[in-house]
Amino acid sequence: MKKLSLIVPVYFEEDCINQYLFETIPVLDNIEMEWEIVFIDDGSKDKTQELIKAFADRDNRIKLIEFSYNQGKQAAVSAGINYATGDYLLYMDPDLQDPPNEIPNFVAEIEKGYDLVFGVRKEKIDSTINKIYSRIFWGTLNKFTGLEIPKGLAVMRIFNRKFAEKFMQYREQNRFIEGIFIHVGMKRSQIEVSQRKRFAGKSKFNFKRKMQLAFDAIFDFSELPLKLAVRLGIFMSLLGVLSFIIILFFKLFIIDFAAGWPSIISGIILSLGIQLFFIGIAAIYIGRIYKESKQRPLFSIKEMTNL
Ligand code: UDP
Ligand code: MG
Repeated sequence: MKKLSLIVPVYFEEDCINQYLFETIPVLDNIEMEWEIVFIDDGSKDKTQELIKAFADRDNRIKLIEFSYNQGKQAAVSAGINYATGDYLLYMDPDLQDPPNEIPNFVAEIEKGYDLVFGVRKEKIDSTINKIYSRIFWGTLNKFTGLEIPKGLAVMRIFNRKFAEKFMQYREQNRFIEGIFIHVGMKRSQIEVSQRKRFAGKSKFNFKRKMQLAFDAIFDFSELPLKLAVRLGIFMSLLGVLSFIIILFFKLFIIDFAAGWPSIISGIILSLGIQLFFIGIAAIYIGRIYKESKQRPLFSIKEMTNL
């Protein structure tokens, strides 16, 4: 019999765990497969671990990986994929935004022989500001990275062992997993999922974290910022040559004028500013290379239950 592993990152989700399992376990029991749920606790300081452990004590199909400290959802999901043992791996959040009763549809779709099945949202239940943010985020990302990201990507997705192994070969420290999922490629399908509101608790992704994610995504999957520096550099140089010729022409053949200091100073400030900006961009890449070059482990685990 085949086995299905759920991979569920949790961070301060004490209000969701009970309801999540209450809804999910009956759905899993109805699928003709063995199953396990691998929770990855990303350093919560509430009752999240305690609650999960209580379930894990009674049912060894419920597993828990506890991170030593908060390392981010990207690391949590990577750890889950690393330790899950199923033939199929399904990644979802415990906040019930993507409802568990969609799981059988994912299983049915991947059984058709795909390596990865994405969920896309039928309709997005979110605040207007978040919707605008998503639009800008994914739009910019498509432009910068050339990755073909499905529109309205949901969290829930399923993939097979072959895909999981490919995924784990991506060793980058600066992990933007949505990008990696698409970069792995292989045989891919997508199905529509209905959406609900977050069951309880708050979204952990405030504006700052979202911006951080956007930067991670761009600098991980794109060298466009570096190329822009070269292009702008060429453009500015040509502009410099051109203005020199024009000034010379005016001075020699039309009027004899005295060029003022202000124009020179502003020219210098502008070009220095642009140089500094792009040195900064180069520095960001160097910083990331530095981080990669240390080859630290992708995540740090404190304790594992039922694994
Ligand atoms: N999460 C995590 N580590 C973090 C932040 C979030 O593991 O540092 C988990 C969180 O518990 C949730 C999932 O990532 O299961 C998605 O977070 P959330 O629902 O807050 O984000 P949103 O759905 O609003 O994008
Ligand atoms: Mg959520």
